[in-house]
Amino acid sequence: MRIAVLALQGDFAEHESVFKRLNVPTLQLRQKNDLDLPFDGLVLPGGESTVQGKLLRELDMFETLRSRILNGLPVMATCAGTILMAQQLLDDPTVHLGTLGISVRRNAYGRQLSSFHTIGNFAGIKEVPMSFIRAPQIEFCIPGVEVLAEYNGRITAVRQGNQLAMTFHPELGEDCRVAEYFLKEMIP
Ligand code: GLN
Repeated sequence: MRIAVLALQGDFAEHESVFKRLNVPTLQLRQKNDLDLPFDGLVLPGGESTVQGKLLRELDMFETLRSRILNGLPVMATCAGTILMAQQLLDDPTVHLGTLGISVRRNAYGRQLSSFHTIGNFAGIKEVPMSFIRAPQIEFCIPGVEVLAEYNGRITAVRQGNQLAMTFHPELGEDCRVAEYFLKEMIP
């Protein structure tokens, strides 16, 4: 098994180190040709969704990734990655990959709470450390999107079939259980 990590911008190295700790090989996706290499799952890291979306288009990786996700490629997205997958951004006409049936508000926690750490319940895993960094909020989900985690009444993790998306960063810290969930529950 090999996991591809989109490595255009953001905290892809932290995701790679989680899979390294789990003894799962990774592959960096940096250019279109990298998409020809075999991989079983994809990680869309946190960072800056505007920059990542622009680079995906400029590097001509956008359509291939989008259709692979729509065709069932297992994908795990954190924060900016979740914004890339959302079908709608609130207060923003932009749509990037648009594969996941959620509406998301960027930078939803305001300046005071722009970065914070907490512990929340994640379905099937129980208590999970959650680091939020200028995090988006998932405000609406279409039917078929399963809510996996919430914090203070705000949705922080969802799954729609082959797509797992979080507004926090499970890759920052020692706890590898969300990545394990992705590997065990979502990769055939
Ligand atoms: N605020 C960033 C954005 O809108 C996301 C932040 C993150 O990935 N930690 O893209």
